[in-house]
Amino acid sequence: MTFAAPPGTEPQTCSSCERSSVLGYFDRWGRCPACNPSAAGPPIGGVVYAFLLMGVALAPFGDLEPGGRLAALLAIWPLGLVNTVLHEATHALAARILGWRVHVVAIGAGTPLLQLRLGGTRLVLNGRLLATNGNCVALPEGTVPSRGAIALVTAAPLAAHGVAAAAALPSVSGDSFGGLLAALFAASNVLVLLWSAWPRDIPGRGATDGQTLLDLWRDPDAEIAKWRLAVVFWPYHKHQRDGKAEEALKSAEAVLAAEPRDELVAGSFAAAAHAGGRPERALPHLGAYTKVIERSRSRGLRKLPDRALAARGLFRGPEHEEYMRGSLLVALDRLDEVLTLSERGVAEAASEEARALWQGCVALSLLLAGKDLDRAEEAARWAYERLPWVAFVETAWGMARIERGGLEEGLAAFERARKVDATGGMGALHTAWTAVAHVRRGEREQARMLAESLRAPGVWPACLRRAERAVSGGC
Ligand SMILES: [Zn+2]
Ligand SMILES: [Zn+2]
Repeated sequence: MTFAAPPGTEPQTCSSCERSSVLGYFDRWGRCPACNPSAAGPPIGGVVYAFLLMGVALAPFGDLEPGGRLAALLAIWPLGLVNTVLHEATHALAARILGWRVHVVAIGAGTPLLQLRLGGTRLVLNGRLLATNGNCVALPEGTVPSRGAIALVTAAPLAAHGVAAAAALPSVSGDSFGGLLAALFAASNVLVLLWSAWPRDIPGRGATDGQTLLDLWRDPDAEIAKWRLAVVFWPYHKHQRDGKAEEALKSAEAVLAAEPRDELVAGSFAAAAHAGGRPERALPHLGAYTKVIERSRSRGLRKLPDRALAARGLFRGPEHEEYMRGSLLVALDRLDEVLTLSERGVAEAASEEARALWQGCVALSLLLAGKDLDRAEEAARWAYERLPWVAFVETAWGMARIERGGLEEGLAAFERARKVDATGGMGALHTAWTAVAHVRRGEREQARMLAESLRAPGVWPACLRRAERAVSGGC
């Protein structure tokens, strides 16, 4: 599984950004993976759904006026939305009946258009409503869900669609607008039922209800384990979004206290502590942590071929665990260990792509430690010539450029990388090295403000150190 470019291969440049790579990951329009918006694939389900329902609306049965049929056509999309609401509301209702907490009910895809808080539940209307899909996050609180409870909450909407279709059947007729609407409603419910019951994984978005039920039947322990992870992580995630970091960790700790010998719970607690900027709390559970990392990755992602993983900048299996361990060690400021781990990664990499990612890690750990700039630059360049669309690779390259005085080039790299990943760690790197660039341009005040913003809990200590050294004239 090596995709090494033959020696002397000419780099190819993306048709819509400045990134270029010798590994040839460009689509047929010459776009790099970061510039390819349709990476998720075409919305086949939605298109099939719309065409089948149009067929029902225009089918030659009954003697309805053409105007009535046209009105029925217009009703297809709202009916799809009604069905989505019915689906997600049934998940939520079943969860409430079991005493679970409903965290989120969302309709549509894309970014939120409208948000409403109802008790502990966030109701979200997303911007891309043409895609009539939805999402419901409901979990028991502070306890591990049983197999039966998971099955009930997962299967409830499937039953609801069946009942709704059956209830509409007696009113179906081709002679009136209402009768035709009933036919559309019944057909829509049957289609959504089949679509959610069809077992499959959606890369990056988890599994369908049918897949969850199938997993629960085939391998209940593994499936329940996934839910255990969620029970720890979700309340944590919610508190953190509300800016209550301490409370977030407390909620994760409560579950850990209730299940002290559960390795998955311990590992999830470590994940929460790491993400919450308390890496020292994660450290005692490092072993459990690396074990849950691979499990918590959705199977859809695990099944992706090597090239698709590399396009997203992801390692596979054990290499991914090592990478996560490295990021925890960066948070703990144990940079020598990170360097050793990354060098081992380079030496033992399973593919050219993995080697490029590890070279990016070598560059990052050297730059953060402020050591051996020549080697850091060489490693960053090696990685950047291959996987420039991976945020941390592009960031390492930008950092190396700024250290060398290539300020414009470095800041432009940050700008592009931010569009791919703007999370905490990446953000702190951009802030620290942007401060360095400001100092080199003589803009000391801006640099000082940026350095100041890095004095926050959870920020990688090496980022603050680099910015402060620049501001105090050590540059
Ligand atoms: Zn591009
Ligand atoms: Zn569902």
